[in-house]
Amino acid sequence: METKTDLSRRIPEMFGSMVFGEEAMKNRLPADVYQILKRTMENGRRLDPEIADIVATAMKDWAIEKGATHFTHWFQPMTGITAEKHDSFIHPVEGGRIIMEFSGKELVKGEPDASSLPSGGIRSTFEARGYTAWDPSAYAFLKDNTLCIPTVFFSFGGAALDKKTPLLRSVEAINRQALRILKIFGNETAQRVNVTVGAEQEYFLISRKKYYMRPDLVICGRTLFGAKPPKGQEMEDHYFGTIKPKVAAFMADLDEELWKLGILAKTEHNEAAPAQHELAPVFTNVNSATDQNQLTMEIMKKVARRHDLACLLHEKPFAGVNGSGKHNNWSLSTDTGINLLEPGDSPQENAQFLLFLAAVIQAVDDYQDLLRVSVAGAGNDHRLGGNEAPPAIVSMFLGEELTGILDTIEKGEDYQKHDRKMMRVGVHILPRFAQDTTDRNRTSPFAFTGNKFEFRMPGAGQSIAGPNVILNTAVAESLSRFADQLGEALAEGKNLEDALDDLIRQVIRDHKRILFNGNNYSEEWREEAGRRGLADLPTTADAMEAYLAPKNVALFAKHGIFSEVELHSRYEISLESYVKTINMEASTMLDMAYKEILPAVTRYVNELCQTVLHKQAVGLGAGGAIRFHEQAQAAELSEESENCYEALKELEDNLKKAQSITNIRDKAIFFKEKINPVMDKVRIYADECERLTAEDLWPYPTYSKLLFYV
Ligand code: ADP
Ligand code: MG
Repeated sequence: METKTDLSRRIPEMFGSMVFGEEAMKNRLPADVYQILKRTMENGRRLDPEIADIVATAMKDWAIEKGATHFTHWFQPMTGITAEKHDSFIHPVEGGRIIMEFSGKELVKGEPDASSLPSGGIRSTFEARGYTAWDPSAYAFLKDNTLCIPTVFFSFGGAALDKKTPLLRSVEAINRQALRILKIFGNETAQRVNVTVGAEQEYFLISRKKYYMRPDLVICGRTLFGAKPPKGQEMEDHYFGTIKPKVAAFMADLDEELWKLGILAKTEHNEAAPAQHELAPVFTNVNSATDQNQLTMEIMKKVARRHDLACLLHEKPFAGVNGSGKHNNWSLSTDTGINLLEPGDSPQENAQFLLFLAAVIQAVDDYQDLLRVSVAGAGNDHRLGGNEAPPAIVSMFLGEELTGILDTIEKGEDYQKHDRKMMRVGVHILPRFAQDTTDRNRTSPFAFTGNKFEFRMPGAGQSIAGPNVILNTAVAESLSRFADQLGEALAEGKNLEDALDDLIRQVIRDHKRILFNGNNYSEEWREEAGRRGLADLPTTADAMEAYLAPKNVALFAKHGIFSEVELHSRYEISLESYVKTINMEASTMLDMAYKEILPAVTRYVNELCQTVLHKQAVGLGAGGAIRFHEQAQAAELSEESENCYEALKELEDNLKKAQSITNIRDKAIFFKEKINPVMDKVRIYADECERLTAEDLWPYPTYSKLLFYV
């Protein structure tokens, strides 16, 4: 058997062994082809067909040596998960034999029969084709004996049908605008500004056997029923607690699988809720980070299966227990290795830092509605604002120190803690913001954590492409306006320092309403946010309209991220998915209640009543006024189940009514107002029934069994 030391020795060699990355390319491609490919990867240019043939052959040989039989164009449709269609390498030749072949054409373009993937009306039936095209800026990799080629997915007319295309466009937009700013600061060496992202992934692990006993978990990914267990997370003994051996074995196996795919899985620990855990990778460029997070989710599920566990990525699998999010750590860095959100060592670097900071402040304030939309979904709605995750109101936490500095800049006053001189942009050296002074507020949806921002609203199961498209685009817009403004000021003969001072002061004045360092979970904040005029969009049904707001349509058009048609399709798909999700949950609820819960209650009530009759028959309690407890229990249960039944009827009626609503927005509102609350009602009564019913008759494993018996 392999020892721990053997494994440690093997890691460097194992890391990235399933990726056709730098090393494989260098080893397997002629030097000139390698150079051309590398340039293509860096600049996102199209690849010459002859070069594509050479690359394809090298990729195929590499893959076959590692046991691959198939290839696939791997893409990220608007379902939020990944899609693939496998083709084998076999190619018939004379004599009934085959050879293994893979051409440049097959590498570069594909035409998956993807007509049943959502397009939000973009692909009408007469042009039902969708195309995939290789994204040479991401590495190909091997998974399940299949060579996976990361691709973008678009329609016959060229509209983006996926999550990756807008992401790549947004990276270009922010690169363009950030370079303009760097030029103003006299930085001519940086050729490119990249977006860096590290996505911390939360998840639950439960027993696979128990998972299969719960149709709600299997079908909906979350429990629709479940009485509160005697022990929840109030003991706070799980966070960073000792990892159970079964879970540790899962994590070790997971790390290995991820490392092979070149994913920098770094930190694994227990989370706040029982049975909840987190994996954090080392950050990388946003394109890879997005691919890698998709793979991480997929592999988590697969590895869990091997360990007789089920991995839950739903945002709120258990009521009353913390849900799972995905913290999106975001920053900008130059190709020369400078983190633009890191205060520097010189006044000039600090002025630049403050300008990028101001750009993010303005972006988050101006496009708070879009940030909310970017994390919308029926699942995440249960989590946001649940006193365990940020509310659905977007605001920003900067920490006291940085807020103090901005205050001083705004007022042009002394910044007392540091020196008595006038605080002026571009004059003073800023302190470094240690993570522990900036990271204390865990309630904020968008927190500055020393040298990056942490967006905490994304849900565990969501693709990080959406939130990053919005962040990149909104910040690109601030930077673009700043570059215009500074350019004008300089042209008018102002010096850069004065121009910066004016600009940053103005941004703070105009946008400070988005800054909040207090407790975001409190009711007072909600009221305060209302007074400040911040958007409060509690559900997906409320939020989606923002996609179509003229200021947002204009933003996306200006930076070439989404056409109006593409935006509309995302709007439709999101609302449809919201409706479908709740519809499926409601149907599952009806099914479970009619077929298993009510029958279980009936059996138990019957047993109780029989007992009462038998007790009476043998003369127990005869003559006296004893009321058997079975009688009281039967009465209570009977009443709860009557109420439950009534609520179920209402749910059924409302679901029928929903069917006749054709407008998707009206339908979403109807589900929000007339389905969700009734489901809550059904659940309350059903959970009461669970509390009162004998466990051996209850059809499902309880919350305690699910959460504490892993
Ligand atoms: P926590 O939020 O739990 O305190 P860390 O400070 O370790 O965790 O960082 C969380 C994530 O932030 C990690 O994935 C890390 O790689 C990522 N991160 C660190 N620096 C950057 C950066 N400059 N850009 C993007 N992500 C970053
Ligand atoms: Mg974090």
